[in-house]
Amino acid sequence: MNAVLQAPTWPVDRRGRPLRDLRLSVIEACNFRCGYCMPAEQVPDDYGLDSAARLSFDEIETLVRGFARIGVNKLRLTGGEPLLRKRLPELVARLATIPGIDDLALTTNGSLLAIHAAALHAAGLRRLTISLDALDTGLFRTMSGGRGEVSDVLQGIDAAVRAGFQSLKINCVVQRGINEDQVLPLVEHFRGSGHVLRFIEYMDVGTCNGWQRGQVVTSAELRDRIARHWDIQPVGANYRGEVAKRYCFTDGTGELGFVSSVSESFCGDCHRARVSADGRLFTCLFASEGTPLRGKLALGETGFSDHLGALWSRRADRYSELRGERDAVSGRHVEMFLIGG
Ligand code: SAM
Ligand code: SF4
Ligand code: SF4
Repeated sequence: MNAVLQAPTWPVDRRGRPLRDLRLSVIEACNFRCGYCMPAEQVPDDYGLDSAARLSFDEIETLVRGFARIGVNKLRLTGGEPLLRKRLPELVARLATIPGIDDLALTTNGSLLAIHAAALHAAGLRRLTISLDALDTGLFRTMSGGRGEVSDVLQGIDAAVRAGFQSLKINCVVQRGINEDQVLPLVEHFRGSGHVLRFIEYMDVGTCNGWQRGQVVTSAELRDRIARHWDIQPVGANYRGEVAKRYCFTDGTGELGFVSSVSESFCGDCHRARVSADGRLFTCLFASEGTPLRGKLALGETGFSDHLGALWSRRADRYSELRGERDAVSGRHVEMFLIGG
């Protein structure tokens, strides 16, 4: 008798959403102190430099294999600043070959990319997102908490292209009155480069950035401003649940993205989980508590994935949908630098 091939049955949460996408922080430390994420006045210089609490590469591999077994096919490495994690290419090589993971990406501030791009590409990484909020040298330095040089990031982008990375994503968080004037120069700089510039609305993540709604520049406003200078038109999503709304220049010089994390909610299609560098699971960007997973890795791949499936099926998060309603705002949210955006 022929064996009957069964489609995998992946767990869904209480709102019917499967888990497809994992953001994994490999380090909680960062060499920048961006005011919207990790303000220098609030986070000491030596924060996160104790490596003992971090998952080891063996633990990370078991963890990712467990996630892949319950449906995760997209994995993004993040931080803190992931390029500060020692021997990162070695980890990338291990994760790139895990069955089921067909999309491995990394988000970085780009400051150390020129040093690491070639090794990361050789290890099997193919997708890179680089954060870049300003082209102006002085403003960039200020926005990075006095720690970053825009020239390092631009050299990192060049090095990534030389290493073989194609169509990078460049993420810019726009804050009213801070870097609004960088929007058009950034569009001009990346138009025709083959890279995709994406504007992200400034979010009320964490507790230390002092977020106020008035500081958000909505995607709609940015789109209108850009459209006064260039002819752009919407393009369809690459896949269901894609968070960036895509636009292309009608003259064929490329594409832009807008992530409306505040002005529009995409909880209905949220198939994403996050794990901090010390192995805590967060089922929403705005969660206050994480569930420790480290102790459960000893269950092995199968036992661990059963445990994950049970956790995921209890999930009901939809913070963005409820934003503004009293109950949604618990007052305490995990910091972005712990779960990587
Ligand atoms: N350090 C890396 C970097 O900056 O690319 C990776 C981690 S960082 C937390 C990931 C992303 O989160 C960055 O693109 C950053 O701009 C974004 N981010 C941090 N705080 C944010 C906020 N309050 N609102 C919107 N995006 C934010
Ligand atoms: Fe560091 Fe990235 Fe947060 Fe900036 S956004 S402080 S680079 S983790
Ligand atoms: Fe997903 Fe939470 Fe963001 Fe909604 S608010 S899209 S559930 S991470």
